[in-house]
Amino acid sequence: MSVAMVELRGVHKSFGSLHVLRGVDLDVGRGEVLVVLGPSGSGKSTLLRTINHLEKVDRGTVRVDGELLGYRRSGDRLYELREREILRRRTQIGFVFQNFNLFPHLTVRQNITEAPVHAQRRPRAEADALAVRLLERVGLADKADAYPGTLSGGQRQRVAIARALALEPKVLLFDEPTSALDPELVGEVLSVMKDLAGGGTTMIVVTHEIGFAREVADTVAFMDAGRVLELGPPAQVLDDPAHERTRAFLTKVL
Ligand code: ADP
Ligand code: MG
Repeated sequence: MSVAMVELRGVHKSFGSLHVLRGVDLDVGRGEVLVVLGPSGSGKSTLLRTINHLEKVDRGTVRVDGELLGYRRSGDRLYELREREILRRRTQIGFVFQNFNLFPHLTVRQNITEAPVHAQRRPRAEADALAVRLLERVGLADKADAYPGTLSGGQRQRVAIARALALEPKVLLFDEPTSALDPELVGEVLSVMKDLAGGGTTMIVVTHEIGFAREVADTVAFMDAGRVLELGPPAQVLDDPAHERTRAFLTKVL
């Protein structure tokens, strides 16, 4: 049996007395696309943040490509990893945020080469060449020397995707990547994401874009109150959900 690229087992996470993730199990295979749906506050962002080790889990395990995320196993005991090792592993996971999070004082090219040059210590010329290739891939080859402030929201999000790809991540996480965009700019971002999915990138996408889920997802998860309530192929979860809560949610977003 092949190892899942991302595997969560019994993941719990609380903030104080607020129990946000209540036992999440998930498997995302290599090259698969998982779309996560669910109402606001159901724990979707927290789920992505635990996978990227921006949040530590309280209980359960997260593995990426077979490696335990925040821990090292020795016999049957687990030890927390050092911060350096956590940072190294985090660079293997790309994260695309709702609000782009580009560095405003750097050009598009510098935004993309920042992490490869400073975190991965790749030669500048190599990182620049990679940036050119990635900008071509997201349709922005002519914007390398532009500053983020001069770009549209859709263009900024495509730069953010190129920047995430520059670390050649094992998995790309998207947290509502089109929610902050004007409606006419959503399509250009979804189209880039669709290309990536077609090219075999492992992706976990939190989105309310049901059309994208239907067309691109291998699996759709519906989260409710910190649990994965429903999980299956898009046709099953979107057209024939087993739970009333999934049905109620879908009538609201469709
Ligand atoms: P979603 O992305 O599905 O809207 P989140 O994962 O952002 O849900 O949040 C789930 C719950 O956890 C919400 O009630 C939110 O207010 C709370 N929460 C998220 N992050 C934190 C934090 N760092 N500290 C305290 N509460 C948090
Ligand atoms: Mg969220």
